[in-house]
Formats: sequence, structure tokens, C-alpha cells
Amino acid sequence: MKATRKIGYPKNFFTTIRLSFLELNKYIISEKILPLFFKWMLLSFYILIMSSCEANEEDTHPEDISNFMLIENPEKVIKVNLFYVESETSIHQSDYHLDEAEFFEYLNGYYFHKYGIGLELAQSQSLVNDELYDLRDNRGGEPSTFFMQCADSYEKDKLNIYIIKRSNIIGIAGMGRSQRVLLTYENLFTSTSPHEIGHALGLFHDDETVNIMSTTLDKQSRKHFNHVQEEKMKKRIDMINTNNAL
Ligand SMILES: [Zn+2]
Repeated sequence: MKATRKIGYPKNFFTTIRLSFLELNKYIISEKILPLFFKWMLLSFYILIMSSCEANEEDTHPEDISNFMLIENPEKVIKVNLFYVESETSIHQSDYHLDEAEFFEYLNGYYFHKYGIGLELAQSQSLVNDELYDLRDNRGGEPSTFFMQCADSYEKDKLNIYIIKRSNIIGIAGMGRSQRVLLTYENLFTSTSPHEIGHALGLFHDDETVNIMSTTLDKQSRKHFNHVQEEKMKKRIDMINTNNAL
């Protein structure tokens, strides 16, 4: 008799488990869970196509003038919007003092003109956004915060560079649908800028330490794009300029 009871108990137990599982399935398929699931999938996808680069080490202006070259008419030109991110309170006492011409000369002269790629300033403007201004409050969630907070201001047919002062990270680039770059003010004149722009023009990381897309900690060693990267960026610029960017 005891044996029968023992057999009976697990049977009921598993039936209970199976029924609970069916209930759970019904709940998952119900309207409550599915939209949440899709939202989660969408967010994961966004995070996947974002690239953020973290580093703590200081980096200085590369003085290797032999690597500097400006040309008259670059083959591919991409227009660039600059956004100075401000907070409601900082806007009245802005302390961004970027020499924009010098910044573009730095980017073109050291990193882009030698490949026939030219970055050209379209517009520079202030953008009041408290979330972005204090991005360091969003530790761990910087890429998704950046992606969401610049969704309304960026222009699809430009490269959009957002400059911020307060961050835990030195740069983020949005790839895929958007050519957006976020750079920390103090890192503008470092290889982080062309690195993030490379991401925003569709490039992934590269293992060679001299490659601009390398993740090496010695950022001064990053000097070149390879031929495949050059072609990829040019194709992307064509797509952006014809408004056919993905
Ligand atoms: Zn990177």
C-alpha cells in the first residue's frame, strides 16, 4: 500500500508541474509578457549595434607631423553636425571653447584626408539635455541613454558628433541606422575621435595596434585605416549622402 502511495504522489506532482507550465505558457503568450519581450529584444539589438569605448588613461595630441596631410578636394565628403551638450543651468555659462576649424583640421589632416575622405562642418549648435550632460550618472547604461537622448536631434544625412563634459566613458558611436558619435570634450584631440567616427561609418574593431579601430590602450599608436575599412567608409558616406543609409 505504501508503494502505491509513493507512485501516486510523483504522478500528481508532475501533473501539477505540467499544468503550471501550461499556465506559464499562456501567461507568456498573453498580452502582458509578449510586448515586454519584444521591447527587451529591441533594446538588446540597439545595445548590440552600439559601440562604446572606455579608457582611463590620458592621451595627448599626436605630434607626429609626418603623418599630417591636407588635400584640396577629397573624393568623398561627409557633412558633420556638432552638438555641444548642455544642461538647463550650464547653458548660461557654457564653457566649451572648441576651435572648430582646428578640430576639423586635426581630424582631416591626421586621419581622413589621406584616404580621400573629408569631414566638413555643416552646423554647430548647443543641445540642452540633462540626461546626456550628466552621462556619468548613467553608469553602465551610457550607450542606450545616448542612443535614446539624441534620437530627436540627429540628422540622417550627416555625421552627428555630440560633445559632452561629464562622462565615465570617452566615446560612444552608434552604428547601423545612425551615424552618431558621442565624444568627451577632453578627448576630442585624441585618436578616440577618428575611432568613434570609424564606428559611426560602419567599422568594427581591428586587432592591429596601428589601426585606428584597434582597442589598444596606447592610443597614440593608432594611426591608420586599412584598405577594406577605407572602402567601407566611402561606401557608407555615399549611402548617407544619397539618404540611403541603413
Ligand atoms: Zn571602439
